[in-house]
Amino acid sequence: MPIVTPLTKLLNIRVPVVQGGMQWVGVPKLVAAVSNAGGLGIITALTQPNPSALRTAIKETRAMTSKPFGVNITLLPSINPPDYAGYARAAVEEGVTIFETAGNSPGDLIKYFKSNGCIVIHKCTTIRHAKSAVKLGVDVLSIDGFECAGHPGEEDIGGLVLLARAAKELKIPYLASGGIADARGIVASLALGAAGVNMGTRFMCTVESPIHQNIKEKIVASSEQDTVHIFRTLHNTARVFKNKVSMEVVAIERRGGAKFEDVRDLVSGQRGRMVYETGDPDYGIWSAGIAQGLITDIPTCEDLLRTLEKGVEEVISDLSAVVVKAKL
Ligand code: NAD
Repeated sequence: MPIVTPLTKLLNIRVPVVQGGMQWVGVPKLVAAVSNAGGLGIITALTQPNPSALRTAIKETRAMTSKPFGVNITLLPSINPPDYAGYARAAVEEGVTIFETAGNSPGDLIKYFKSNGCIVIHKCTTIRHAKSAVKLGVDVLSIDGFECAGHPGEEDIGGLVLLARAAKELKIPYLASGGIADARGIVASLALGAAGVNMGTRFMCTVESPIHQNIKEKIVASSEQDTVHIFRTLHNTARVFKNKVSMEVVAIERRGGAKFEDVRDLVSGQRGRMVYETGDPDYGIWSAGIAQGLITDIPTCEDLLRTLEKGVEEVISDLSAVVVKAKL
């Protein structure tokens, strides 16, 4: 039975699952595979070296799918500040109508997308930020719990409470993001009022994901205990895979008084990218969420979404049986 929610209707997708923005991972091959499988694939704009390359990536994606897909733009501290407005303009001019925004001070970008008639999904980690984004006119919120990979914000609120608060306080549809990799997580999210889910780490571990096979296998072999937070002391907290480099960064931060310059060479995104290219999990920093503890296989996106859909039906039916038994 199809899972119909405000998200599937708004985006015209079959399954309420979004493949969120992931640096170095959200490239046309994966995005098209997710969209073809019935979810929403999202190209990560900053993975492309410049706005012109983003135009090419959009064209490549369109050549591989006729289904809806989006573009992510994340505004966070960067070693080389990107031309955010240039990426946004390129995507709008290429006819993209769905955007995922995330990070700090997204107001101008959101206004630009809305003035061009686009749908905006804004990712945030507090209800306070969610409400500000609603005022800016976003269509959907992506409520990112502390479980997530990448940047969870600085307030450390897990998805269970954050989503229950969202159910009480938000009047527009929202996605559950962070810690979701299986059917139980999707059903729990729907029960918490979400119109769908955002998954990142789960999609890193698919056949069409562009990262090296060794890293996919490393995720499968790892547990929920194999991530760590870096940048806590710099107020730019990021959950990343626990390896030699991330532990070195944490050790430098623990000494006290660390500045970004003290860790810059260790954490650079270009170095992290080599992890995905060479398959050496200890080469640099790479993002992973605690959902990796739930990941045990490397399916195609098509198989993954079919399995999740079937799993959702089974979990709901098991739950109904529990409720009937409880009533007897
Ligand atoms: P980068 O090489 O510019 O920086 C590496 C890491 O250091 C990033 O986490 C960045 O936020 C952090 N950083 C940079 N300057 C900093 C400073 N002055 N103080 C504190 N932290 C600082 O990053 P990159 O890998 O080339 O990525 C480019 C941008 O995309 C970064 O802002 C990054 O955070 C962001 N990003 C996006 C996604 C996404 O899903 N779209 C995922 C992860 C990171």
